[in-house]
This record gives sequence, C-alpha cells and structure tokens, in this order.
Amino acid sequence: MLTTSPTSPTTAPTVRGGNILSMLSAMGAFRPMGERILQDHGIAFVSPDAWYDLASYALALRTIATRMGANTLFMIGKEIPNHIDLPPGLDRFEVVVGSFGPAFAMNHRGAGAGGITYEVTGDWTGRIVSATPYPCDFDRSVITGFFEKLLGARMRVAHDAFGPCKKRGDATCLHIVSRASAS
Ligand SMILES: [Zn+2]
Repeated sequence: MLTTSPTSPTTAPTVRGGNILSMLSAMGAFRPMGERILQDHGIAFVSPDAWYDLASYALALRTIATRMGANTLFMIGKEIPNHIDLPPGLDRFEVVVGSFGPAFAMNHRGAGAGGITYEVTGDWTGRIVSATPYPCDFDRSVITGFFEKLLGARMRVAHDAFGPCKKRGDATCLHIVSRASAS
C-alpha cells in the first residue's frame, strides 16, 4: 500500500513564522523595508506558528544585507533576543554556547540543527561552527546578541579569518567566541 508521509524527503526546509516576526521587530524603523524585501521573496502575512520556505527567507536576509549593509544586518540580528521569549536556565557560558543547535532545530523543519556544532575551549571561550543557510554576518550577530542578553556580558564573536566561509561557497563558517575585555 502506498502511503504519503508529511515529512517526505522532497519537503523543503522551513522556518517558523515567529522567527521571521522577531527579525522584523528587531528592524525597528526599517521594518517596512524588511516587509517589502520579504514580500519580494514570496513571504507575506507572516503568522507566528506557520512555516515558511527557509531558502527564500535566507535569500531575503542576504538582500537586506546587500541593500542596507552587513553592519545593519548585524545590528538587526543582535537585537533579536530582545524580541523573543527566552527559555529559563540559559545562564552559564557552557550552556549558552551549546544552545544554538537545539534552538535552530526547534525553529526550523527539515534542516536538522543547521549543522551547528560547538566546542568549549576555555573559561568563557569557545568555537561555534555554523552550516545554516543564513548569511554568516547574521549568524554571528544572533550569536552575539544571545550571549550578551543571556549572560549580561560584553562578548566578542569573531569570524575565523583563515577558515572556510559560506560567502565563498564553503559549507560552514567558524566563529570564535570570547569575553570582551572590560576596558
Ligand atoms: Zn562566513
């Protein structure tokens, strides 16, 4: 007997609408421009619990970076934690550094944990590898924002300059996380 599965392998990866709405809220005054760019990529009337094509959303973020600058996209990503309900218990470096893969898995379908892996390399230092479809400036800004919001500390998240980069067509980017000096 033939059966159809709702999770057939041909199903394209999707992102939860709530994620998109948090990004739009984080845009502040730029929100109307963000909504127009999303609409250009076929994403409109976003509802928090609906699911949207991930590739289209990632392309929209790339368009935002092209039109508004990578720095603006970085500022938007960093603001996102101020526009979502944060789960309790994320209050130590070792816990936060490991939370990005599970968080991605919860907010996306058909894309696993986004190829996000991590390693704690010392006291308040670690490495996060990301293979999400998102621009790496966006990944880096979201990571920075979550660390700072959850731990209340200034953090430095630096893209490894010598390794692979999604911008050059590689599968992953590596981000090196450390606590920013107080001075
Ligand atoms: Zn990169």
